This record gives sequence, C-alpha cells and structure tokens, in this order.
Amino acid sequence: MTRRRQPRAVIVGGSMAGLSAGLFLRQAGWSVDIFERTSERLSARGAGILAHTELRTLLTSLGIDTEVNFGVSIPTRVVLDASDTVIASRDMPQIATGWTRVHTLLADQFPEQHYHSGFDFQSCETLPDGISVRFADGRQEMADVLIGADGFRSSVRRCLFPNVGPAYSGYVAWRGILPEALVDAAPFVRSSLFTFNLPPGEHMVGYPVAGAGEDFAVGRRSYNFVWYRPADSLTELPQLLTDAQGHRHELSIPPNVIAPSVVSEMRDHANKVLAPWFKHVVARTPHPFLQPIYDLAVPEMASGRVALVGDAAFVVRPHVGAGVLKAAADGQALAAHLAGGDDVLAALQRFSVERHRVGTKMIERARHLGSYLRRSFDNDTQRGEAARVGAPEAVLRETARLDFLYATS
Ligand SMILES: Cc1cc2nc3c(=O)[nH]c(=O)nc-3n(C[C@H](O)[C@H](O)[C@H](O)COP(=O)(O)OP(=O)(O)OC[C@H]3O[C@@H](n4cnc5c(N)ncnc54)[C@H](O)[C@@H]3O)c2cc1C
Repeated sequence: MTRRRQPRAVIVGGSMAGLSAGLFLRQAGWSVDIFERTSERLSARGAGILAHTELRTLLTSLGIDTEVNFGVSIPTRVVLDASDTVIASRDMPQIATGWTRVHTLLADQFPEQHYHSGFDFQSCETLPDGISVRFADGRQEMADVLIGADGFRSSVRRCLFPNVGPAYSGYVAWRGILPEALVDAAPFVRSSLFTFNLPPGEHMVGYPVAGAGEDFAVGRRSYNFVWYRPADSLTELPQLLTDAQGHRHELSIPPNVIAPSVVSEMRDHANKVLAPWFKHVVARTPHPFLQPIYDLAVPEMASGRVALVGDAAFVVRPHVGAGVLKAAADGQALAAHLAGGDDVLAALQRFSVERHRVGTKMIERARHLGSYLRRSFDNDTQRGEAARVGAPEAVLRETARLDFLYATS
C-alpha cells in the first residue's frame, strides 16, 4: 500500500494570520513552515484589542486556554461629554485583551523549528507539481500551497494583484497604552468601563487591559486608547508621516521616529477637544503612536496555489474590532478546506469564495461605522447618515459588534 505524501504549506508572515493558518493546517495533517521577515519577537505591534467570543472559541479549538488570564472583563460602555459627564451608557459585556497576549499564545503553540525568522519573501513560481518560493537571501522552498499572511503591505498579494493596495480612509488613529498607575484613580478606570468621547467629527475610545506580566489587579493594569482624527491626504497626512529627520514614510510610520512636533500638535489638540478624562490620559501617555486607517480588499483570496489570509487580503477599519479574529478565522477556514482533499486548487477556490464574502461584509460594515469621521460631506444624505452613525447611542450599540455577520438580509 502506498502512503500518501504529507502535503506542505509555506507561510509568509508569522503574525496573527500566519500563526493561525499554520496551527490549523498542522491540525489538519499538513507540514507547515512559517517564514517571517522580522528577526525580533513581534510584540509591539498593537496595544489593546477586543476579544469577541468567536476569537476565544477559535483559540480554544487550537488548545489555547482563554478562561484564565486572558483579558479584562468590561461590563459597560459609556459616552462622556466635553465635561466628563456620562451622556449615554449601555451594558454590553466584553473582554479586552492585548495584541501581544494573543500573539504570544499563538506563537507558544507553534513549533519553533518550523518558524524561521529573518526571511524576506521575494517571489514565487508555479511549477507542474507545486509552487517554488524564493526569499531575499536566495533560499528556495517547494510547497503545495503558498500562503500570504504578510499583512497590509503584502508582497505575496502584489504577485497576484499588483494593482490592489491600501486606500486611505481620510483619518488616522492615535493610539497609546500606559500603566494604570500613571492615571489618576478615576471612576472610569476603577470600574473597568469601555469609555467613548465624541468631539465633532472625531472618536476617542479607551479601556483597561492587562498590565505588565499579565497583571489584572486594578491599579496595576494598563489603559489603552484609540483616537480617530481626520487628516487630509494631501496636506496633513504627509506631515504626520514625516519623521524628525525630514524623511517621508510610506503608508505608516514606526512609533519611535514620529516627529516630536507631530506629537506636540496632537497633545495640544487633545487639550482643546477631548473630555477631561481623555486629556489626562493623553497627557500621561509616554509614547503615543500613529496608524493611518486604510481599506483594502482583494478581488479573490486565492489564485492557483497561492492563498491570502488576514490583512494581506482585507484590511478592515478597526471599528468592527475584529482584524485579529478575521485573520485567525481565515486560517481556520483555509485548513478546513484543505483538510483531507487531494484537489488543492479546488479547495483554495472554495476557501476564497467563503472568506471573500466575510471580508466584504466586514469592510462594508467598518466603512459605514467610520462614515462620520470626515470633515466635509458631499450632500445632505451623507450628512444625515453621519449624524445617525455618530450619535452616542449608535456608537455604543454598534462599535465592535459582529451581529451583522450573521444577519440574513
Ligand atoms: C488602530 C488599530 C486598532 C486595531 N484594533 C483592533 C482590535 O481591537 N481588534 C482586532 O482584532 N484587531 C484590531 N486591529 C487590526 C489587527 O491589528 C490586524 O488586523 C491584525 O494584526 C492583522 O494580522 P495579520 O497577521 O494579517 O498581519 P500583520 O499583523 O500585519 O502581520 C504581517 C506579518 O508579515 C510579515 N511580513 C511582511 N512582509 C513580509 C515578507 N516580505 N516576508 C516575510 N514576512 C513578511 C510582517 O513582518 C508581519 O509580521 C487594529 C488595527 C489598527 C490599525
């Protein structure tokens, strides 16, 4: 009896999408190697993230315990007005965890000997019996499937769809995380609220996450904020992305080189428009960082022997709070379609159809939720829509909810 050869996947990118796809494919009996460009441990990518039940279920199916020390439970959402008065509130239990926390849980599950750091994907070539993948140092790998999990600037995507790239949304997110000990013991922190403040055309949200060493004790946790602000693509964005040395960065700027003048302007603006609570938080945040917000959608999530997962395929504005879930669920679906079957190409096409539908729904939903973060409107219909979406009750009800994914109409 001839034994079936174990199929092999090469994954480019060892972050959320790459690790999830790798773990699920291993469960499905595949041999998997991940090639990650960055040599150091990926930890400083993000700050807090919201963990939907779906994300926890998915992690549990990988054997990861999300019951203990996973995140901070936040029972209630509130909106503050310009003087810190709560003008709307809603009970809506959720868990806030950290990007690093989830990444570490995934990375700890993946066998070290199959995770190769310091490899920069260069090109791929489809051969009659597989796909050949080449890295910048000349290393070459053969696989049955190549998975592009290399984020929003994906080089793998560029091979498939050279004309698809991130489209700037018109606004940026200032983010920050600081030890709770640095903020005055305000009621919003002590009672673990998910706190919004909505200055005209802007959107601030803050919530507690675990502190250093996964400490969940009040006073030793961290506090995380995301502040969305419009920034004109031609005038303001280039300035924000220009570092102190005058070098203009493309698409995003590393936190450690943001020009001090840009940070000062942001802090001044915080003092002018934010509620006192958030003025306080921003003033005490040692290293705020900036992320322009983009939309990105591929026409298909697979072509030939190549599949795209996570932000390489769809970048969804963060209002849905599900980038990590989407990345992990892409990996799960990919493995489910590839499990057992011999027809890799057909399996990749089925994966593409299934997950493209989800990515499309998410991107549309997130665009809708971010529609009021603009300075000007083309007509009254747009203005009316923005007023509805940006109303405090609507923001509380709609932000980071996934119900829309299950709606039938
Ligand atoms: C402001 C903001 C707030 C957010 N909040 C949330 C939230 O609350 N909840 C949530 O779920 N998500 C949130 N997200 C989104 C989430 O962070 C991303 O969706 C998620 O990290 C995407 O994971 P990924 O693995 O697809 O891509 P990435 O994390 O970008 O990883 C791509 C990897 O590929 C590697 N790579 C790139 N090029 C190459 C190459 N040529 N060769 C080899 N390796 C390469 C990179 O080094 C990187 O490690 C937020 C995003 C933003 C901007």
